[in-house]
Amino acid sequence: MHEIVVNLHMHTRYSDGTGTHKDIAQAAIRTGLDAVIVTDHNVLVQGVEGYYRVGPSRVLLLVGQEVHDQDRDPQKNHLLVFNANRDLSTLADDPQALINGVAEAGGLSFIAHPRDPEASAFHETDISWEDWNVQGFTGLELWNGLSELKTVIPTKLHGMFYAYFPHFIGHGPIQETLYRWDELLESGRRVVAIGGSDAHAMHMKMGPLRRVIFPYDFHFRTVNTHAFIPQPLTGEVPTDKKMIYDALAAGRCFVGYDLPASTRGFSFNARGRETSVMMGEEIPVKGGVTLQAHLSGPADIRLLKDGKIIGIWRESQACAFSASEPGVYRVEVWRSYLGRKRGWIFSNPIYVR
Ligand SMILES: [Zn+2]
Ligand SMILES: [Zn+2]
Repeated sequence: MHEIVVNLHMHTRYSDGTGTHKDIAQAAIRTGLDAVIVTDHNVLVQGVEGYYRVGPSRVLLLVGQEVHDQDRDPQKNHLLVFNANRDLSTLADDPQALINGVAEAGGLSFIAHPRDPEASAFHETDISWEDWNVQGFTGLELWNGLSELKTVIPTKLHGMFYAYFPHFIGHGPIQETLYRWDELLESGRRVVAIGGSDAHAMHMKMGPLRRVIFPYDFHFRTVNTHAFIPQPLTGEVPTDKKMIYDALAAGRCFVGYDLPASTRGFSFNARGRETSVMMGEEIPVKGGVTLQAHLSGPADIRLLKDGKIIGIWRESQACAFSASEPGVYRVEVWRSYLGRKRGWIFSNPIYVR
């Protein structure tokens, strides 16, 4: 399996972002991404998918959409839709009908920023997901770069600080979203976690100060989704698009916060008596299972079973654990950066049955 770095969930001038698809592709090439998935609000932009090139470098730009009901007040329940290949925003007023519509179109649906609190100092409302009775969605956006900003700006002064020092924003996924994910997993469902940037490159004015919150380049160096595909990207759009969406659908991916250090090289596997599996896959418990994680550099590894920590390896580059009980096992990695421990890697689970 080959690891690729994908940044997903972002906006252009077709909705409330300020850049073009070309700007995004160029920023992605500058930051060394393999692919980006652009998701404008309630529009499926046609004719821009494909490989973009600068010199010898290239990036694959894919297009999905972020759908929500614009007549709803407040405008909650945002859904990321990938690979449906048609505009599904007409189903926005009924989240379950929308999810069903995505599935029927052969697409993937991810609950965007499941918890997205209000930021009253900036007149930003709570746009969390509300309708938790829905079934059949692919997964959720465990870490969203922009909702996290809303959790750290109780005053305008805080906003000013983070506008100039955005490296201090990232701490990890919002706790309630992590709890919600574990709860869904514990109920026996398969729910894939992805990380999104929600990049807009908004132009902010505060008195005489002007700032872009935040440039696409910055977002592309922060919360990424690292996916595993069966062969290196070929340069052929249909083949590569299918490999990427297959990996996201299966949960063959992890959320990496690449700002402190690149998370490339992370792995989480399980070996049983007869078979070996990776993130997103299932393995029988019979005969015992060895879970193993590897990192590109030392950090604190936490192994969780059904949402509870069952092992911590501090400042380690690898860990191994013998699992004799069925459960949903996942790994979190935390490392020190700018004076505190921050989330670095959040794996998708291995389902030991
Ligand atoms: Zn949204
Ligand atoms: Zn968005």
